[in-house]
Amino acid sequence: MRENNQPPTAHKTLHTVMHEHMQSGSLFTRAIEHALAYLRKVDDRSVAPDPQALAALEGLNGPLPEGPGETAEAILDQLASLGGPATTAQVGGRFFGMVNGGILPPALAARLLADSWDQNAVVYAVSPVNSRLEEICQRWLIELLSLPEQTVAGFVSGTSMAIVCGLAAARWRLCERLGCDINAAGLAQAPRLRLIASRHTHSTVIKAVALLGFGTDSIEYVDVDAQGRLRPEALPALDETCILILQAGNVNSGSFDPIRPCCEAAQAAGAWVHIDGAFGLWAEACPNLRHLTDGLALAQSWSVDAHKTLNAPYDSGLSLCADPEAMVAALQNSGAYIPTSEHRDGMLYTPEMSRRTRAIDLWAALRFLGRSGVATLVEGLHARAQQFETELKQAGFTVLNDVVFNQVLMDVGDDMETDAFVARVRASGEAWIGPSRWFDRPVVRISVCSWATTPADVTRAVAAFSAARDQQ
Ligand SMILES: *Cc1c(COP(=O)(O)O)cnc(C)c1O
Repeated sequence: MRENNQPPTAHKTLHTVMHEHMQSGSLFTRAIEHALAYLRKVDDRSVAPDPQALAALEGLNGPLPEGPGETAEAILDQLASLGGPATTAQVGGRFFGMVNGGILPPALAARLLADSWDQNAVVYAVSPVNSRLEEICQRWLIELLSLPEQTVAGFVSGTSMAIVCGLAAARWRLCERLGCDINAAGLAQAPRLRLIASRHTHSTVIKAVALLGFGTDSIEYVDVDAQGRLRPEALPALDETCILILQAGNVNSGSFDPIRPCCEAAQAAGAWVHIDGAFGLWAEACPNLRHLTDGLALAQSWSVDAHKTLNAPYDSGLSLCADPEAMVAALQNSGAYIPTSEHRDGMLYTPEMSRRTRAIDLWAALRFLGRSGVATLVEGLHARAQQFETELKQAGFTVLNDVVFNQVLMDVGDDMETDAFVARVRASGEAWIGPSRWFDRPVVRISVCSWATTPADVTRAVAAFSAARDQQ
């Protein structure tokens, strides 16, 4: 176990030291042991790191070493002992912040294996295994999410980037229909396109609009109902210059825009529809929740995360597009040295060129769960959210939203009271929640997004909320 414990010194070249690590494997065994020690105890520790753990992070600081000195084992041990306690217990059952998602063990294990292959997902010639798994995952996703059969998937870092891809493909196609090659002409010479989104559209949609140079002032915002759903009757007149951005899963309430009527209006006008379904698109894979995404296949592009609801490892997002020509044209890239082929060359569908092999862990996740396993996972998140609603009400809390998916919004008072409540809950170590704003009022937001959350975790979290309220 400790045979590589000598610092690399003059008599051993760096190459020799690293070669010995590869051959002996003890460094990697040690990493796995640290990882297992963490995973086994994650539910016993405070969900938020305690103040001492945060202070101890300074131990990782110091001047840039002049050269090799410490052993790799010592470095790894330091990371485990100082870094591990300064994580939030996201892989445990009581992290309810953001919309994060836990981690499926088979996907994590596949990731550990694939990381040691260190493949570049760029093209088939460089990583045939990834390329083939991208094709397989694409086919499975089309089936699970009931997408048009020609849909292409880009394996990107997350929904933020998937939205950029979807809007770029939309722009390319709408301009092309109007006789303009947007790639060559640029926005200054292009026909003016209209961007239409609900007032509750996600901040990353607004970011994508800014990044692509449309200008956020140009967004035509559409009113929403009390659950934060776009009101179809409030849509402006659509035409062939419009990109309509819908939401499957409001980041606060979890509500879904009425997809079918909006898509039908867009279709009649020749407009493009992009659906941001970062966490909610997976409703389509569930018999009990599919009503939420009715009409989804009428859109032209979709963005969804594998790292949220599906519980795949970070970072893993999917850009899906029913117009492959538009997607490839919008993300065009070529070079004399890039060996593209008749096989699937993943970089044609992503903004990045070099990438990690996200399809490998996604494949493991989908293969492990299968169709009914995905439904069980997603419906379980919904059931836990409903349990939150029931138990919160029983404990005297006010729940503000209809719990249609995995999100629960609580009213605990004004801004100061909300911030203090959140801080007390986090300090208790019992659960991790975040504050948000809902129709201009402060709220506490609970997002159930990990397979690891059990009914007992929900009850324990509600008890912690009651204690935090009574502590006031
Ligand atoms: C999380 C989220 C995003 C952004 O996704 P990332 O994977 O963090 O880039 C976009 N839209 C919605 C509705 C989200 O919940």
